[in-house]
Amino acid sequence: MDGLIIPGGESTVMGKLLADMGMADTVRHMIVGGLPVFGTCAGMILLAEKIDNGPGRSRSTFPATVKRNAFGRQLGSFSAVSAFGDQGDIPMESIRAPIITEVGKGVRVLSEIDGKIVAARYNCQLVTAFHPELTSDDTVHRCFIGMF
Ligand code: GLN
Repeated sequence: MDGLIIPGGESTVMGKLLADMGMADTVRHMIVGGLPVFGTCAGMILLAEKIDNGPGRSRSTFPATVKRNAFGRQLGSFSAVSAFGDQGDIPMESIRAPIITEVGKGVRVLSEIDGKIVAARYNCQLVTAFHPELTSDDTVHRCFIGMF
């Protein structure tokens, strides 16, 4: 396996399945060992070391705090256009999206919407609060492939 994409969905269910199926530690070790990982939306939430107002998460690997459903629930879903790193503007589809409220040392913020962090990178870990797979723009996927 060259890389891992943890997609959107429901982070509580995905986290429970990872734990119940005994996969959480394996995945963590692979990421800490340098496997490139890309977490979108719920995937970003699973990777984050801390959830806003919640306890630290010892199995997570991305040094940041995230706030779930930061733009509201289903009706708060929206499309936006904003810069992704130095790659110019890209479309960003958000579905019950989280935001990053705090980043740790070594994290590079790549995108913001209305001053809220929605994409970041830490070593070989890339996270976006939005869903690049829902548009035809492949800028984010190219960035991820560039990490292999
Ligand atoms: N709101 C979902 C969660 O908290 C994430 C939604 C998504 O992945 N599009 O897990």
